[in-house]
Amino acid sequence: MRSCRRPLLLGFVAALLLPSALSARQAESGRERLERRSAERAAALRAELESPRPIDAIESVWIEELTWMEVRDRLAEGATTAIVSTGGVEQNGPYVALGKHNYILESACEILALELGNALCAPVIKLVPEGGIEPKSGHMRYPGTISVRQETFQMMLTDVVRSLEAHGFTEIVLIGDSGGNQSGMAAVAEALDAEWAERPVSVVHVPEYYQADVSAFMADSLGIVEAKNDGFHDFYWVTAQQMVTDPATVRYEERVRAGLAHINGVSIAPAEESIEVGRAILEYRVRETVEALRERGVLDGR
Ligand SMILES: [Zn+2]
Repeated sequence: MRSCRRPLLLGFVAALLLPSALSARQAESGRERLERRSAERAAALRAELESPRPIDAIESVWIEELTWMEVRDRLAEGATTAIVSTGGVEQNGPYVALGKHNYILESACEILALELGNALCAPVIKLVPEGGIEPKSGHMRYPGTISVRQETFQMMLTDVVRSLEAHGFTEIVLIGDSGGNQSGMAAVAEALDAEWAERPVSVVHVPEYYQADVSAFMADSLGIVEAKNDGFHDFYWVTAQQMVTDPATVRYEERVRAGLAHINGVSIAPAEESIEVGRAILEYRVRETVEALRERGVLDGR
């Protein structure tokens, strides 16, 4: 019985081996096909990346509002400076929307980009460290505040800056509108700038944007002094800047109706006046920022 079965068994084994020998040949030609297709795809992508814009470009300085073709062409025309700004979502008293810093940056980054020329704004990084999450501490004690860990913030910033560098931005400027953002931005800028010492790229954090003495500017140049403190995380000089972007974010109409259109002894009405003050403050902070960039040689040759 046994000797009779052996040929059958051998035949069975051969039948198992044969398809695998065939599939090895097929895999080889399959690999070639894959390589050809991937080369074709790469060539198609190169052609697409070089293809001209079919329509006119828009004027925005915000990367997220542009198409990739518009960003490509702005870079080619010399817009090699990118501004990465960080805001926050935190409690700011009973009148001011949690996104205060982000609303201010909508105006501040745009003014800075236009002042620098050849500059674009990365999307505002809206989430930053705001205190402990569990247990809640700092601003996190108030509903709506969203906090990220310091390492989350720095990893996000790092990846954003790396993305911009990968696309050819050569001056990457970091500004933070909130106090808790400064050390993380400084650490990321320092680390990447050191890592890219051999590349023609500068990554700079500009603390002067945050440190600019707005109260002194407001007193000296505009004659406005916040004579008292209402005890909120809220100031006239901050509200005025926010109103440039949108008075609704400081509840302008609602406060006028409630007889509460003031903060720290300064009236926020009429809106047009506060917007004008806010714009002057933003322009002052932008001047301080540009000055700091010049001092650091970031704008040499620009
Ligand atoms: Zn803040």
